[in-house]
Amino acid sequence: MRIERVVIAGAGLAGLRTLEELRARGYQGAVTLIGTEARPPYDRPPLSKGVLAGAVDDTTLRHDLSALGADLRLGEAATGLADGVLRTGRGEYAFDRLVLATGAAPVQLPGPGPQRMLRTLDDALSLRAVLKPGLRLAIVGAGWIGAELATAAAARGCLVTVVEAGPAPLAAAIGAEAGAKTSRWYAAAGVDLRTGVHVASVQPGGLALAGGEWLAADEIVTAIGVRPQVSWLAGSDVALDNGVRTDEQLRASVPGVFAAGDCAAFWSLRYRRLLRFEHWDVALRAPEVLAANLLGGSENYDPVPYFWSEQFGRMVQYAGYHGGADQLIWRGDTGGERFAACWLAAGKLVALLTVALPRDLQQGRRLIASGQPVDAAGIADPAVPVRDAVLR
Ligand SMILES: Cc1cc2nc3c(=O)[nH]c(=O)nc-3n(C[C@H](O)[C@H](O)[C@H](O)COP(=O)(O)OP(=O)(O)OC[C@H]3O[C@@H](n4cnc5c(N)ncnc54)[C@H](O)[C@@H]3O)c2cc1C
Repeated sequence: MRIERVVIAGAGLAGLRTLEELRARGYQGAVTLIGTEARPPYDRPPLSKGVLAGAVDDTTLRHDLSALGADLRLGEAATGLADGVLRTGRGEYAFDRLVLATGAAPVQLPGPGPQRMLRTLDDALSLRAVLKPGLRLAIVGAGWIGAELATAAAARGCLVTVVEAGPAPLAAAIGAEAGAKTSRWYAAAGVDLRTGVHVASVQPGGLALAGGEWLAADEIVTAIGVRPQVSWLAGSDVALDNGVRTDEQLRASVPGVFAAGDCAAFWSLRYRRLLRFEHWDVALRAPEVLAANLLGGSENYDPVPYFWSEQFGRMVQYAGYHGGADQLIWRGDTGGERFAACWLAAGKLVALLTVALPRDLQQGRRLIASGQPVDAAGIADPAVPVRDAVLR
């Protein structure tokens, strides 16, 4: 069948990259790019970094979007899918191929008090406007976003309290043992970090904590994670499993339908499980494979996933997936400014986290990809390059 009409639901990084990759591969047919937000696609990582710091206002990904020849439908939300037709609040779109790239949205806390989120450019700009010296800011969640927001707010002179239900910062992302190594960064920045504290509800003027305690705050930001934006697909034939379930070629359960980015849980050949990442690099790269397969190819998407975060003046990078790891090895002085956590499974490196060690990260990512057995003593020794810490 000749492919003449491609519809992309979601005009974020993954949606835009799919459009770019289709054109780069010579596809000249129609593409409709539909996005809920009124803005053309923009980048999110700077929102919690340069935008909050006041260094950047505009993170638009492409100013020459019209050169890609797409029918751009902004401020329009996909609402349903049936019989080869995508429905939105404004119309219906028939397609030969459909790409689902609707991303993820923040989870809210219960309660009638005002709570801010940090997902969109408008969120970041309006938050920045209130981050004034002396503001009592409560951040719920010491994950990646909470840490970056605490960094920016403390630098702007706010009185920052971070409330985290887990035993340590980043516990949900990298485990409590590794996350605990970042606790002292909060204290050094003058941020009051309270772990093991559950929020019962957001109230006007503060947080009602479980156990009856009250935390007064002028502004509250909820940063407790995101969920894939796929509820609009309920009732369609597209199988959902913590996002749109795809195979290793990013094909959804319905023929002709593909998915990528934060909304997609793909079958990982490397880790032998369904995985969904909220990583910029995944939204950037997966569309290369998606576009190739949409146009008739059969390529596998099998990355060593990569993520970075900038917190309290440090570059933190993570590669791989430590879900099935059976060993955690520290590299370097975890009380110092440069160190790494290396996760092994059956003697092979499956993930690593580095603090201010970009070369270790790069070499580690390649070592994970190679699947070579690792020399545990070598990987623990910062004098041994990561690439040489292999069993020979
Ligand atoms: C503040 C912040 C900081 C980040 N920092 C980092 C970082 O440092 N490092 C890193 O690796 N990653 C970071 N990320 C994560 C990274 O930005 C995401 O992984 C990436 O944006 C995912 O792209 P996406 O296109 O899949 O989803 P999104 O960027 O969420 O785009 C999806 C788009 O689809 C739209 N949409 C949703 N539902 C519908 C619908 N029904 N119909 C039409 N459109 C719809 C949404 O409004 C959105 O515009 C950060 C994210 C945030 C929010």
